[in-house]
Amino acid sequence: MIFESLAEKLQKTLGKLKGKGKLSEKDVNNAMREVKLALLEADVNFKVVKKFINNVKERAVGHEVMESLTPGQQVIKIVNEELTKLMGETQSKIEFASSPPTIIMLCGLQGAGKTTTSGKLAGLFKKNGKTPLLVACDIYRPAAIKQLQVVGSSIGIPVFSMGDKQNPVNIAKAAIEYGKKNGNDVIIIDTAGRLHIDEDLMNELENIKDEVKPHEILLVVDAMTGQDAVTVAETFDNRLGIDGVILTKLDGDARGGAALSIRAVTQKPIKFVCMGEKLEQIEPFHPDRMASRILG
Ligand code: GDP
Repeated sequence: MIFESLAEKLQKTLGKLKGKGKLSEKDVNNAMREVKLALLEADVNFKVVKKFINNVKERAVGHEVMESLTPGQQVIKIVNEELTKLMGETQSKIEFASSPPTIIMLCGLQGAGKTTTSGKLAGLFKKNGKTPLLVACDIYRPAAIKQLQVVGSSIGIPVFSMGDKQNPVNIAKAAIEYGKKNGNDVIIIDTAGRLHIDEDLMNELENIKDEVKPHEILLVVDAMTGQDAVTVAETFDNRLGIDGVILTKLDGDARGGAALSIRAVTQKPIKFVCMGEKLEQIEPFHPDRMASRILG
């Protein structure tokens, strides 16, 4: 499970401060050294860790905290707040268009979980009373269209497809016309991925973006790839301008480095997290809940 060892280490380190009636600067510095190591071992971006530790120290070392009745608790509270801040402070929701349909474009590398996540997202919206339409724009990966159709039919959501002989830009355009006619208020476009970022992929995504003007461009990244996920997010954001990230495979990511770094590095929020292959295994991302989970 995500943050398993980080949570254990932080709770142990900070637990030592808890009982102390008084804290010295040395106590705080020692604890912060251990926190720093734990974060680095969790594969959190080096610069992010450095800034985080400085922020905590700046707030923790000082008269008010150290002379308080429960200085250890105060330091833990500061760590909790800074962790929450690191992950974006508050939940970032999808901005639904004031006049529907809301167009959401999902992009990411092959295998990140785009097709699965498209279905998960559609299922979530349906539960909230929306009438989504899924659009199959991944015409390159064999079986991607079929996969989306299977996902769609298992949760009762229509899938718009024009096979694999049409240009994805045309498919997306036609899908929106179709969705408007059929009263779909959310249109989720599943785009193609590649094993690595390349020019062709980026050009195609840019063309779709220019043509359909999505309200949200969400990048799907695999949490298990750690700092690579952060680099992918940076590259997609620079090129395409993303509105947020969906982090998948948190169930397989024991360290959590991507979850703790992406927001700080890219300034773009994590909007949803996925914790399994099943279609209901998606949830909105709450930075405060995640921080509390780490600190126990
Ligand atoms: P795409 O190439 O980006 O469209 O990726 P797919 O949607 O085909 O997903 C690739 C693989 O990852 C599939 O086997 C999915 O079942 C799996 N997968 C997707 N999301 C998750 C997740 O949150 N947890 C786990 N364990 N597997 C996932």
